[in-house]
Amino acid sequence: MSTPDEVQASVVQARAAAARWAAAGWGGRRAALLGWKRSLAARMDEVAETVAAETGKPHHDARAEVLLALVHLDWAARNARRVLGRRRVPSGPLSAHQRALLAYRPMGVIGVIGPWNYPVYTPMGSIGYALAAGNGVVFKPSELTSSVGELLARSFADAVPEHAGLFLAVTGPGTVGEVLAGSAGVDKVAFTGSPGTARKVAAACAATLTPLLAECGGKDAVLVGEGADLDAVADAVVWGAMANAGQTCAGVERVYVVGSAYDGLCERIVSRARGLTPGEDYGPLTLPGQLAVVERHVKEALAAGARALLGGPGSLRPPFVGPVVLTEVPEDASAMTEETFGPVVAVNRVRDMDEAVARANSSAYGLGAAVFAGSRAAGQAVAERLRAGAVSVDSVLGFAAVPALPFGGTGESGYGRIHGADGLRAFATPRSMTVRRFAPLADLTSFATPGARAARAVELGRWWHGRW
Ligand code: NAD
Repeated sequence: MSTPDEVQASVVQARAAAARWAAAGWGGRRAALLGWKRSLAARMDEVAETVAAETGKPHHDARAEVLLALVHLDWAARNARRVLGRRRVPSGPLSAHQRALLAYRPMGVIGVIGPWNYPVYTPMGSIGYALAAGNGVVFKPSELTSSVGELLARSFADAVPEHAGLFLAVTGPGTVGEVLAGSAGVDKVAFTGSPGTARKVAAACAATLTPLLAECGGKDAVLVGEGADLDAVADAVVWGAMANAGQTCAGVERVYVVGSAYDGLCERIVSRARGLTPGEDYGPLTLPGQLAVVERHVKEALAAGARALLGGPGSLRPPFVGPVVLTEVPEDASAMTEETFGPVVAVNRVRDMDEAVARANSSAYGLGAAVFAGSRAAGQAVAERLRAGAVSVDSVLGFAAVPALPFGGTGESGYGRIHGADGLRAFATPRSMTVRRFAPLADLTSFATPGARAARAVELGRWWHGRW
């Protein structure tokens, strides 16, 4: 467990290293990050073994997680200059005498606070992009996955020894995260975790006006319309709901299916989910306390009139939970309103897509969603109506592996974006610059300009904007 002094010292060290990182320029940073990426690819098994050991997830899943992180690190390294490099922007008729330049400067040191469910992929969505934007990083992994965090930091130092100190890990429980967000002096905090913790982190950040990016939970819905390929939907729903034992922020927790497809879909979901073996197809619930949440959601749903199509409270065999498929779950039951974070899915019948959209959007969360509407065009039209930060048409979680797409949510799912150009800009601060090229006819920033001339210029502008 890192002491407050150690956390502070790490921030100081990362800040010193960030100065060398700045001097390396876009090309130097890109080469260093791609070198780190290649060495992580070579060490994939070592990283995956550590992830599997700490979370309990199958080795194959851990490898796939590392691959996703590599995809994002690659994109961030290759695109940082294009997105953040200095450019000219139009200065407009009133300022034609000035050149306008925009550049994105690094913020300094980013404090990254991560969760345990995807201990590589999730924090790397901040770490990789923050480094590519020119910052130093101090990372506080979840206390359940400290070794993964330390290994990531060590792998950077091994691969890029000339920039050792730029990316450091500190370890320990929430109190260590609180120090990192509060008194340690970071320039921005990128937090991933539950909305309750995000509120505490926001409070710690408030004391120093430190900006915060908050990636929180979800209650993602899948919307299924008439004409959808029900085998494909069932396959996607079961994977989206049960993979990683349901411990996925953008995992499937709710399904809204139109009446005509309801029976066929329920049958297919149940038959697929029944074939899953906890401990083989997915791991245990990593956080022991989560078992109680899953049990409460299932029990409350059943008490409120839901039916279990597969499993039920008896599916809890700590630390594993067998797949649970519920239906007719009242919309105000905790299984529909709170993040369950277990291998549980609620499949509810709706009249039509309008009702599906209304129900999907009624959640306090707004992270991801998926649509199967029978045709791509119909799916896209429904997707446009969803309040989610990311929507997949004809698949689940399709956006996770597209590094150019920003990821993040609204409401209880948090604010700010990781990934893509927005994810690079999240860790940079714009610096606007004007360069005066010649004296304007009527200089509105000088007392020396004759009053009548200044008034004529303002009147000309008024006329122009009144006309067009
Ligand atoms: P959590 O909120 O319990 O903890 C997250 C991190 O915050 C941990 O590192 C923890 O030590 C730290 N922390 C706890 N208290 C703190 C405090 N007062 N100040 C600073 N840091 C503190 O979440 P978790 O159980 O680790 O992760 C699961 C949650 O993360 C789920 O809600 C899941 O949906 C969410 N999640 C979101 C995304 C996303 O990208 N939107 C990705 C993965 C997980």
